[in-house]
Amino acid sequence: MRALSKEARPGALMIDAPEPTPGPGEVLVKVMATSICGTDMHIYNWDGWAQSRFPAPMVFGHEMTGEVVAVGQGVNPDMVKVGDHVSAETHLACGHCYQCRTGRKHICQNLRILGVDAPGIFAEYAVIPAENAWVNDPEMPWEIASLQEPFGNAVQTVLAGPGVSSRTVLVTGCGPIGLMAIQVARASGASLIIATDVNERRLALARSMGADLTINPLAQDVVRTVRDATRGNGVDALLEFSGNQTAIRQGFGALTYGGHASMLGIPAGAIEFDLANDIVFKAATVIGISGRKMFETWYQVRELVTSGKVDLGAVISHHVPLSHFEEVFEAVRAGEAIKPVMLPQE
Ligand code: NAD
Ligand code: ZN
Repeated sequence: MRALSKEARPGALMIDAPEPTPGPGEVLVKVMATSICGTDMHIYNWDGWAQSRFPAPMVFGHEMTGEVVAVGQGVNPDMVKVGDHVSAETHLACGHCYQCRTGRKHICQNLRILGVDAPGIFAEYAVIPAENAWVNDPEMPWEIASLQEPFGNAVQTVLAGPGVSSRTVLVTGCGPIGLMAIQVARASGASLIIATDVNERRLALARSMGADLTINPLAQDVVRTVRDATRGNGVDALLEFSGNQTAIRQGFGALTYGGHASMLGIPAGAIEFDLANDIVFKAATVIGISGRKMFETWYQVRELVTSGKVDLGAVISHHVPLSHFEEVFEAVRAGEAIKPVMLPQE
């Protein structure tokens, strides 16, 4: 089968690999659609993080969907069976640590990630643990089903803590996950959605997905503009998707007293932060968001997608065969792509 292997150097290599066999508790998936995540870009670019973490050479990639074509020993057919259309929950939990045993597998102490710590899915066939196979409605389009994993990040961030219903919201960072979060905030009844990004094309997409007001921090004062739009109060909720220090500080500056911040974006390193003014005196609640709750978030994802309350297709910028991977990885690197979908069977 064709597979995208990551060697210990920048880029990736299309190889002819043996089709994997599902072991006990695993399923073999014929991969119908995959999508590219920021993590894949770190691995593709072979940066310091990737060099310290990724066991090259290995197939990478984790956002996927496909059809189950074989199951290993001991897989419960009530959970998943041959013929099912599945997406992968990409966090591989140990099942025996304190968090796993108290219903919080998404923050497992021994967390491994598909396509990072275990062989990935940029291939015609992939093996995943049966426990990580989320069964989709058979009519869900493949490329939409693949996007449910990053969409789950957006859903968990927007619904965390007091949520956003009837509240004013600031979304910092309109990459694919921030854009999807705008749709979730809209579907959840936010009263005002403000979004920031330094990329005008992404701000235009933010407006088309439901943002009432967009701000380019390179051209406008974010804190002042947010205060002007919220009767001087600031927003009730900050949803952070940029991982950028400036955006994070502006976000907290624009947050109202007693507001909450859901933080998903990952800064490249330690950042400077005004704890006293931005959190302590503000009595702000800060919630770190990791992955998707297993599997509470997936149930929320399914209803948002199948009800038509969100349109994940709106964030897809490219559909290409897997063999055209270089074109889309370069488009992401150049900031031209939002969410590319690669099709391994074409
Ligand atoms: P992305 O890199 O495509 O999006 C980030 C966006 O932030 C870009 O559009 C960029 O232009 C914008 N940005 C940069 N500087 C800014 C500034 N000063 N003000 C406002 N916007 C600014 O990433 P994505 O795929 O949408 O993911 C969003 C973030 O979430 C990333 O940091 C990613 O690493 C992180 N992430 C976290 C988890 C988790 O479990 N916590 C999971 C997936 C992704
Ligand atoms: Zn665990």
